[in-house]
Amino acid sequence: MLDLEQTKKILNEYNIMPRQSLGQNFLVSKDIINKTVEVSNVAEQHTVLEIGPGLGALTSALLETGAKVIAYEIDRKMIQVLEDRFSKHKNLFLDQQDILKVNLASQFTGTKNLKIIANLPYYISAEIIEKLICELPFAQSMTLMLQKEAIERITLKPNDSRYGPTAILIALYGKIKDKIRVPANCFFPRPKINSQVILIEQDENSLLTEKRNNDQTLDLVSFNQFLHLCFAQRRKTLRNNLKNNLKIGLKTEELVQLVAPLNLDLNLRPEQISPKKFWQLYQSMANYISKVDGGSE
Ligand code: SAM
Repeated sequence: MLDLEQTKKILNEYNIMPRQSLGQNFLVSKDIINKTVEVSNVAEQHTVLEIGPGLGALTSALLETGAKVIAYEIDRKMIQVLEDRFSKHKNLFLDQQDILKVNLASQFTGTKNLKIIANLPYYISAEIIEKLICELPFAQSMTLMLQKEAIERITLKPNDSRYGPTAILIALYGKIKDKIRVPANCFFPRPKINSQVILIEQDENSLLTEKRNNDQTLDLVSFNQFLHLCFAQRRKTLRNNLKNNLKIGLKTEELVQLVAPLNLDLNLRPEQISPKKFWQLYQSMANYISKVDGGSE
């Protein structure tokens, strides 16, 4: 684990300037690192996916649990530090990659007892969370450190103008079990805003988990694309978003007929619709889309 002094020493030794463009704010609070690992309940039998290990502040605490740690870091300079620091650890697997370009579904196929733990680079945090849920919906839990505002946004319920795809995916994936406040002085360099750690545990009774258990090939990436199309024009009704953005050539009457069993008002705006309704809507639209595709071949 690294404190402020040790972090500065490593940066100095390797001649590294933290890159703001990569969201490089390093954790320097042993207390927060310990709490993050503790709430995640990690042990030897787990595989942990860490995103952006940086200088390894969190990584070293994860390795101490005996878990297998697979870490993706985009910055070559960080990889150099990590390789030097953890050369003796056989349970660390480092990969220099942009996490957004990794095919996580295939990398982690068949991995049991998967947990995700990360102090996320803030500039792509929503994209990463969506990717994690869509590609690794079988993960047992996700412990994520994010800026406080980002956490507020992704845990919103409907009827808020900031509610959207990330909040919907989280609600369908799991339950928020814990939140830890992380003041800005727990990082170096110190960011302008405070952060939080959030623990989301997979909900075994959720619609998404049930569907996934019955169908391992379930395509959540398409579901996410569908959500983004539904929210493309936030101020417009769901009907207009579906007609303008989905482009499957549905007439209004056909659309109305399609959603009739769902008891869903197409005049609502996307931000007024619950996660469960979006999932049901996608199911009925997905069937229709595949029929249209099949018919046009
Ligand atoms: N885990 C370390 C810690 O807690 O001190 C560093 C966290 S820092 C907020 C975010 C880390 O993510 C940085 O090390 C940065 O280089 C890395 N990063 C940024 N963009 C990335 C990407 N697209 N893929 C993988 N890692 C990325």
